[in-house]
Amino acid sequence: MDNLHSEIDAIRQRLGKKLLILGHHYQRDEIVAHTDMQGDSFQLSAAAAQNTDCETIIFCGVHFMAETADILANSPENLARRNGQRVDVILPDLDAGCSMAEMATRHEVEDCWNSLITLFDPKEIVPVTYVNSTAELKAFCGQHGGIACTSTNAHAVLHKALQQNSQKQRVLFFPDQHLGRNTAIKMGLPESQMALWNSNEPDFGGNSSEQIQNSRIILWNGYCCVHQKFVSGHIDEIRNMFPNIRVIVHPECRREVVEQADESGSTAFILKQITQSPAGSQWAVGTESRFVERLARQNPDKTIVNLSFQPSYCETMGRIELPKLADMLRSVESGLKQNIIRVNDPIAQDALHCLLRMLQAHS
Ligand code: SF4
Repeated sequence: MDNLHSEIDAIRQRLGKKLLILGHHYQRDEIVAHTDMQGDSFQLSAAAAQNTDCETIIFCGVHFMAETADILANSPENLARRNGQRVDVILPDLDAGCSMAEMATRHEVEDCWNSLITLFDPKEIVPVTYVNSTAELKAFCGQHGGIACTSTNAHAVLHKALQQNSQKQRVLFFPDQHLGRNTAIKMGLPESQMALWNSNEPDFGGNSSEQIQNSRIILWNGYCCVHQKFVSGHIDEIRNMFPNIRVIVHPECRREVVEQADESGSTAFILKQITQSPAGSQWAVGTESRFVERLARQNPDKTIVNLSFQPSYCETMGRIELPKLADMLRSVESGLKQNIIRVNDPIAQDALHCLLRMLQAHS
Protein backbone atom coordinates (compact mmCIF):
# COMPACT_ATOMS: atom_id res chain seq x y z
CA MET A 1 0.00 0.00 0.00
CA ASP A 2 2.84 2.42 0.86
CA ASN A 3 4.24 1.92 -2.63
CA LEU A 4 0.91 2.83 -4.18
CA HIS A 5 0.68 6.00 -2.08
CA SER A 6 4.13 7.13 -3.19
CA GLU A 7 3.47 6.22 -6.82
CA ILE A 8 0.21 8.25 -6.79
CA ASP A 9 1.99 11.21 -5.17
CA ALA A 10 4.74 11.10 -7.79
CA ILE A 11 2.34 10.96 -10.77
CA ARG A 12 0.25 13.79 -9.34
CA GLN A 13 3.36 15.87 -8.98
CA ARG A 14 4.45 15.21 -12.55
CA LEU A 15 0.99 16.02 -13.97
CA GLY A 16 0.67 19.16 -11.85
CA LYS A 17 -2.28 21.44 -12.66
CA LYS A 18 -3.24 19.38 -15.72
CA LEU A 19 -4.95 16.95 -13.34
CA LEU A 20 -7.71 17.63 -10.80
CA ILE A 21 -8.78 14.87 -8.41
CA LEU A 22 -12.17 15.44 -6.78
CA GLY A 23 -13.39 13.32 -3.87
CA HIS A 24 -16.86 13.09 -2.39
CA HIS A 25 -17.22 13.35 1.39
CA TYR A 26 -18.41 9.72 1.52
CA GLN A 27 -15.21 8.44 -0.06
CA ARG A 28 -12.63 6.19 1.61
CA ASP A 29 -9.89 7.91 3.70
CA GLU A 30 -7.06 6.55 1.56
CA ILE A 31 -8.70 8.10 -1.53
CA VAL A 32 -9.53 11.40 0.15
CA ALA A 33 -5.84 11.69 1.06
CA HIS A 34 -5.03 12.09 -2.65
CA THR A 35 -7.76 14.55 -3.67
CA ASP A 36 -7.31 18.23 -4.55
CA MET A 37 -10.72 18.95 -3.12
CA GLN A 38 -13.36 17.20 -1.04
CA GLY A 39 -17.00 18.18 -1.03
CA ASP A 40 -20.61 17.20 -1.56
CA SER A 41 -21.97 16.72 -5.06
CA PHE A 42 -22.84 20.42 -5.46
CA GLN A 43 -19.43 21.70 -4.32
CA LEU A 44 -17.62 19.27 -6.58
CA SER A 45 -19.82 20.16 -9.58
CA ALA A 46 -19.08 23.83 -9.02
CA ALA A 47 -15.33 23.08 -8.85
CA ALA A 48 -15.53 21.18 -12.14
CA ALA A 49 -17.39 24.11 -13.73
CA GLN A 50 -14.90 26.72 -12.52
CA ASN A 51 -11.53 25.05 -13.05
CA THR A 52 -9.68 26.57 -15.97
CA ASP A 53 -6.29 24.82 -15.79
CA CYS A 54 -6.90 21.09 -15.83
CA GLU A 55 -7.13 18.74 -18.80
CA THR A 56 -8.36 15.74 -16.82
CA ILE A 57 -10.63 15.34 -13.80
CA ILE A 58 -10.54 12.07 -11.89
CA PHE A 59 -13.88 12.04 -10.07
CA CYS A 60 -13.83 9.85 -6.97
CA GLY A 61 -17.59 9.73 -6.55
CA VAL A 62 -20.39 7.96 -8.41
CA HIS A 63 -21.54 7.92 -12.01
CA PHE A 64 -24.07 10.80 -11.97
CA MET A 65 -21.45 13.09 -10.39
CA ALA A 66 -18.94 12.36 -13.17
CA GLU A 67 -21.67 13.04 -15.76
CA THR A 68 -22.45 16.39 -14.11
CA ALA A 69 -18.75 17.29 -14.03
CA ASP A 70 -18.43 16.41 -17.74
CA ILE A 71 -21.42 18.58 -18.69
CA LEU A 72 -20.26 21.59 -16.66
CA ALA A 73 -16.54 21.37 -17.39
CA ASN A 74 -17.29 21.11 -21.13
CA SER A 75 -20.05 23.72 -21.36
CA PRO A 76 -19.85 25.87 -24.54
CA GLU A 77 -18.56 28.76 -22.43
CA ASN A 78 -15.75 26.68 -20.91
CA LEU A 79 -14.88 25.13 -24.26
CA ALA A 80 -14.59 28.59 -25.82
CA ARG A 81 -12.30 29.67 -22.97
CA ARG A 82 -10.04 26.67 -23.67
CA ASN A 83 -10.10 27.07 -27.48
CA GLY A 84 -12.26 23.97 -27.88
CA GLN A 85 -10.07 21.73 -25.70
CA ARG A 86 -12.26 19.26 -23.75
CA VAL A 87 -11.63 18.18 -20.17
CA ASP A 88 -11.83 14.39 -19.81
CA VAL A 89 -13.72 13.24 -16.72
CA ILE A 90 -12.69 9.83 -15.43
CA LEU A 91 -14.60 7.61 -13.01
CA PRO A 92 -12.12 5.13 -11.50
CA ASP A 93 -14.74 2.32 -11.31
CA LEU A 94 -17.46 2.27 -13.97
CA ASP A 95 -19.69 0.24 -11.61
CA ALA A 96 -19.73 3.05 -9.05
CA GLY A 97 -23.37 3.99 -9.63
CA CYS A 98 -26.02 5.41 -7.30
CA SER A 99 -28.97 3.16 -6.52
CA MET A 100 -31.21 6.19 -5.99
CA ALA A 101 -30.34 7.73 -9.35
CA GLU A 102 -31.17 4.40 -10.99
CA MET A 103 -34.66 4.35 -9.43
CA ALA A 104 -36.00 6.80 -12.04
CA THR A 105 -35.32 6.19 -15.72
CA ARG A 106 -36.09 8.65 -18.53
CA HIS A 107 -38.64 6.24 -19.94
CA GLU A 108 -40.52 5.95 -16.62
CA VAL A 109 -40.48 9.69 -16.00
CA GLU A 110 -41.74 10.35 -19.54
CA ASP A 111 -44.63 7.91 -18.96
CA CYS A 112 -45.47 9.74 -15.75
CA TRP A 113 -45.28 13.13 -17.50
CA ASN A 114 -47.54 11.94 -20.32
CA SER A 115 -50.13 10.81 -17.78
CA LEU A 116 -49.92 14.10 -15.87
CA ILE A 117 -50.47 16.20 -18.96
CA THR A 118 -53.78 14.43 -19.53
CA LEU A 119 -54.87 16.24 -16.33
CA PHE A 120 -52.94 19.54 -16.49
CA ASP A 121 -51.57 22.08 -18.89
CA PRO A 122 -47.82 21.20 -19.13
CA LYS A 123 -47.04 24.82 -18.24
CA GLU A 124 -48.55 24.17 -14.82
CA ILE A 125 -46.09 21.38 -13.92
CA VAL A 126 -42.42 22.03 -13.20
CA PRO A 127 -40.17 18.95 -13.25
CA VAL A 128 -37.53 19.22 -10.51
CA THR A 129 -34.75 16.67 -10.34
CA TYR A 130 -32.45 16.18 -7.41
CA VAL A 131 -28.88 16.46 -8.73
CA ASN A 132 -28.52 12.77 -7.74
CA SER A 133 -30.03 11.64 -11.03
CA THR A 134 -28.89 10.61 -14.50
CA ALA A 135 -27.95 13.17 -17.14
CA GLU A 136 -30.96 11.97 -19.16
CA LEU A 137 -33.32 13.14 -16.42
CA LYS A 138 -31.55 16.47 -16.16
CA ALA A 139 -32.00 16.76 -19.93
CA PHE A 140 -35.70 15.97 -19.51
CA CYS A 141 -35.97 18.83 -17.01
CA GLY A 142 -34.01 21.12 -19.33
CA GLN A 143 -36.46 20.38 -22.15
CA HIS A 144 -39.56 20.98 -20.01
CA GLY A 145 -38.61 24.22 -18.24
CA GLY A 146 -37.46 22.35 -15.14
CA ILE A 147 -34.51 22.66 -12.81
CA ALA A 148 -32.12 20.54 -10.75
CA CYS A 149 -31.70 21.07 -7.03
CA THR A 150 -29.26 20.01 -4.35
CA SER A 151 -30.01 19.24 -0.72
CA THR A 152 -28.75 22.77 0.05
CA ASN A 153 -31.02 24.70 -2.31
CA ALA A 154 -34.05 22.37 -2.52
CA HIS A 155 -36.13 24.81 -0.44
CA ALA A 156 -35.38 27.81 -2.70
CA VAL A 157 -35.90 25.76 -5.86
CA LEU A 158 -39.23 24.26 -4.77
CA HIS A 159 -40.47 27.64 -3.54
CA LYS A 160 -39.68 29.26 -6.88
CA ALA A 161 -41.10 26.37 -8.91
CA LEU A 162 -44.40 26.46 -7.03
CA GLN A 163 -44.78 30.21 -7.58
CA GLN A 164 -43.81 30.15 -11.28
CA ASN A 165 -46.57 31.32 -13.67
CA SER A 166 -49.65 30.74 -11.54
CA GLN A 167 -51.05 29.72 -8.19
CA LYS A 168 -52.09 26.42 -9.79
CA GLN A 169 -48.45 25.47 -10.27
CA ARG A 170 -47.32 22.00 -9.18
CA VAL A 171 -44.04 20.14 -9.10
CA LEU A 172 -43.03 16.66 -10.23
CA PHE A 173 -40.04 15.87 -7.99
CA PHE A 174 -37.66 12.96 -8.60
CA PRO A 175 -35.98 10.68 -7.74
CA ASP A 176 -35.80 11.12 -3.92
CA GLN A 177 -39.19 11.15 -2.24
CA HIS A 178 -37.68 12.00 1.18
CA LEU A 179 -35.84 15.16 0.14
CA GLY A 180 -38.99 16.31 -1.70
CA ARG A 181 -41.32 15.55 1.20
CA ASN A 182 -39.05 16.93 3.95
CA THR A 183 -38.48 20.14 2.00
CA ALA A 184 -42.17 20.62 1.23
CA ILE A 185 -43.08 20.05 4.89
CA LYS A 186 -40.50 22.66 5.96
CA MET A 187 -42.19 25.04 3.51
CA GLY A 188 -45.51 24.44 5.31
CA LEU A 189 -47.16 22.27 2.66
CA PRO A 190 -49.47 19.64 4.22
CA GLU A 191 -48.87 16.00 3.32
CA SER A 192 -52.44 15.89 1.96
CA GLN A 193 -51.12 18.02 -0.93
CA MET A 194 -48.44 15.48 -1.86
CA ALA A 195 -48.83 12.28 -3.87
CA LEU A 196 -46.34 9.43 -4.13
CA TRP A 197 -45.90 8.21 -7.71
CA ASN A 198 -45.03 4.54 -8.06
CA SER A 199 -44.26 3.73 -11.69
CA ASN A 200 -45.08 0.04 -11.12
CA GLU A 201 -48.65 0.83 -10.02
CA PRO A 202 -51.64 1.28 -12.35
CA ASP A 203 -53.63 4.49 -13.02
CA PHE A 204 -51.71 7.56 -11.92
CA GLY A 205 -48.73 5.85 -10.29
CA GLY A 206 -51.09 4.16 -7.82
CA ASN A 207 -53.19 7.32 -7.25
CA SER A 208 -56.63 8.35 -8.42
CA SER A 209 -56.92 11.36 -10.75
CA GLU A 210 -58.51 13.30 -7.82
CA GLN A 211 -55.49 12.60 -5.59
CA ILE A 212 -53.17 13.90 -8.27
CA GLN A 213 -55.36 16.93 -8.94
CA ASN A 214 -55.30 17.79 -5.23
CA SER A 215 -51.51 17.59 -5.05
CA ARG A 216 -49.02 20.45 -5.32
CA ILE A 217 -46.08 18.06 -5.25
CA ILE A 218 -45.92 14.67 -6.92
CA LEU A 219 -43.04 12.72 -5.39
CA TRP A 220 -41.22 9.94 -7.20
CA ASN A 221 -40.99 6.75 -5.18
CA GLY A 222 -37.16 6.72 -4.95
CA TYR A 223 -34.89 6.76 -1.92
CA CYS A 224 -31.28 6.49 -0.83
CA CYS A 225 -30.63 3.10 0.76
CA VAL A 226 -27.89 4.63 2.95
CA HIS A 227 -30.13 7.30 4.51
CA GLN A 228 -33.40 5.38 4.54
CA LYS A 229 -31.85 2.91 7.02
CA PHE A 230 -32.22 5.43 9.85
CA VAL A 231 -35.44 5.09 11.86
CA SER A 232 -36.86 7.01 14.80
CA GLY A 233 -35.93 4.14 17.18
CA HIS A 234 -32.26 5.04 16.59
CA ILE A 235 -32.92 8.58 17.87
CA ASP A 236 -34.66 7.22 21.01
CA GLU A 237 -31.74 4.85 21.68
CA ILE A 238 -29.06 7.47 21.26
CA ARG A 239 -30.90 10.03 23.41
CA ASN A 240 -31.28 7.43 26.18
CA MET A 241 -27.56 6.86 26.06
CA PHE A 242 -26.48 10.52 25.74
CA PRO A 243 -29.23 12.77 27.18
CA ASN A 244 -27.50 15.98 25.98
CA ILE A 245 -26.66 14.83 22.48
CA ARG A 246 -27.75 16.86 19.42
CA VAL A 247 -29.10 14.81 16.55
CA ILE A 248 -28.29 16.09 13.05
CA VAL A 249 -29.45 14.27 9.92
CA HIS A 250 -29.46 14.54 6.14
CA PRO A 251 -32.81 15.39 4.45
CA GLU A 252 -32.61 12.13 2.46
CA CYS A 253 -33.70 10.47 5.75
CA ARG A 254 -37.32 9.52 6.38
CA ARG A 255 -39.79 12.21 7.44
CA GLU A 256 -40.11 10.98 11.06
CA VAL A 257 -36.31 10.94 11.49
CA VAL A 258 -35.96 14.50 10.18
CA GLU A 259 -38.84 15.68 12.40
CA GLN A 260 -37.36 14.14 15.55
CA ALA A 261 -33.82 15.36 14.86
CA ASP A 262 -32.58 18.69 16.25
CA GLU A 263 -31.26 19.80 12.86
CA SER A 264 -31.23 18.62 9.27
CA GLY A 265 -29.30 19.71 6.20
CA SER A 266 -26.87 18.81 3.45
CA THR A 267 -23.53 17.12 4.10
CA ALA A 268 -21.83 20.53 3.82
CA PHE A 269 -24.27 21.92 6.44
CA ILE A 270 -23.61 19.00 8.80
CA LEU A 271 -19.85 19.50 8.41
CA LYS A 272 -20.14 23.23 9.18
CA GLN A 273 -22.44 22.82 12.19
CA ILE A 274 -20.24 20.20 13.83
CA THR A 275 -16.90 21.83 13.01
CA GLN A 276 -18.08 25.16 14.41
CA SER A 277 -19.62 23.71 17.58
CA PRO A 278 -17.74 24.26 20.88
CA ALA A 279 -15.37 21.67 22.37
CA GLY A 280 -17.26 19.12 24.44
CA SER A 281 -20.32 19.12 22.11
CA GLN A 282 -22.03 15.80 21.52
CA TRP A 283 -23.44 14.88 18.10
CA ALA A 284 -25.29 11.88 16.68
CA VAL A 285 -25.14 12.07 12.90
CA GLY A 286 -27.61 10.46 10.49
CA THR A 287 -25.69 10.26 7.24
CA GLU A 288 -23.05 8.14 5.49
CA SER A 289 -20.76 6.49 8.04
CA ARG A 290 -17.33 7.01 6.42
CA PHE A 291 -18.01 10.74 6.56
CA VAL A 292 -19.17 10.55 10.19
CA GLU A 293 -16.15 8.48 11.24
CA ARG A 294 -13.79 10.98 9.58
CA LEU A 295 -15.57 13.90 11.28
CA ALA A 296 -15.08 12.16 14.63
CA ARG A 297 -11.34 11.73 13.98
CA GLN A 298 -10.98 15.36 12.86
CA ASN A 299 -12.78 16.70 15.95
CA PRO A 300 -11.26 14.77 18.88
CA ASP A 301 -12.51 17.41 21.36
CA LYS A 302 -16.16 16.47 20.60
CA THR A 303 -18.24 13.31 20.90
CA ILE A 304 -19.41 12.39 17.38
CA VAL A 305 -21.22 9.10 16.79
CA ASN A 306 -23.23 7.45 14.05
CA LEU A 307 -26.95 7.79 14.68
CA SER A 308 -27.30 4.05 14.28
CA PHE A 309 -25.00 1.47 15.92
CA GLN A 310 -24.94 -0.33 12.56
CA PRO A 311 -22.80 1.79 10.22
CA SER A 312 -24.42 2.86 6.96
CA TYR A 313 -21.86 2.97 4.16
CA CYS A 314 -22.42 3.96 0.54
CA GLU A 315 -21.22 0.71 -1.01
CA THR A 316 -20.95 2.01 -4.56
CA MET A 317 -18.84 4.99 -3.51
CA GLY A 318 -16.62 2.51 -1.69
CA ARG A 319 -15.87 0.65 -4.94
CA ILE A 320 -13.19 3.22 -5.66
CA GLU A 321 -10.10 1.72 -4.07
CA LEU A 322 -6.48 2.82 -4.10
CA PRO A 323 -5.28 0.35 -6.81
CA LYS A 324 -8.04 1.66 -9.13
CA LEU A 325 -7.04 5.27 -8.51
CA ALA A 326 -3.42 4.34 -9.24
CA ASP A 327 -4.48 2.59 -12.49
CA MET A 328 -6.31 5.73 -13.62
CA LEU A 329 -3.32 7.93 -12.88
CA ARG A 330 -1.01 5.63 -14.84
CA SER A 331 -3.46 5.70 -17.77
CA VAL A 332 -3.61 9.52 -17.72
CA GLU A 333 0.16 9.79 -17.67
CA SER A 334 0.58 7.28 -20.49
CA GLY A 335 -1.89 9.23 -22.66
CA LEU A 336 -4.22 6.19 -22.91
CA LYS A 337 -6.93 7.38 -20.57
CA GLN A 338 -9.50 4.85 -19.38
CA ASN A 339 -13.04 5.11 -17.95
CA ILE A 340 -13.86 8.47 -19.54
CA ILE A 341 -17.46 9.53 -18.85
CA ARG A 342 -18.79 11.50 -21.80
CA VAL A 343 -22.42 12.60 -21.97
CA ASN A 344 -23.56 12.79 -25.58
CA ASP A 345 -24.04 16.28 -26.96
CA PRO A 346 -27.85 16.66 -27.27
CA ILE A 347 -28.35 15.32 -23.72
CA ALA A 348 -25.51 17.44 -22.37
CA GLN A 349 -26.99 20.59 -23.96
CA ASP A 350 -30.44 20.11 -22.40
CA ALA A 351 -29.02 18.98 -19.06
CA LEU A 352 -26.78 22.06 -18.96
CA HIS A 353 -29.82 24.41 -18.93
CA CYS A 354 -31.18 22.57 -15.93
CA LEU A 355 -27.81 22.56 -14.11
CA LEU A 356 -27.12 26.24 -14.76
CA ARG A 357 -30.49 27.11 -13.20
CA MET A 358 -29.42 25.01 -10.21
CA LEU A 359 -26.09 26.85 -9.88
CA GLN A 360 -27.89 30.21 -10.15
CA ALA A 361 -30.29 29.18 -7.37
CA HIS A 362 -27.23 28.70 -5.14
CA SER A 363 -25.78 32.16 -5.74
S1 SF4 B 1 -25.28 7.93 -0.45
FE1 SF4 B 1 -27.22 7.34 -1.44
S2 SF4 B 1 -27.69 9.02 -2.86
FE2 SF4 B 1 -25.50 9.22 -2.28
S3 SF4 B 1 -24.40 8.12 -3.89
FE3 SF4 B 1 -24.73 6.65 -2.22
S4 SF4 B 1 -26.69 5.62 -2.78
FE4 SF4 B 1 -26.55 7.48 -4.04
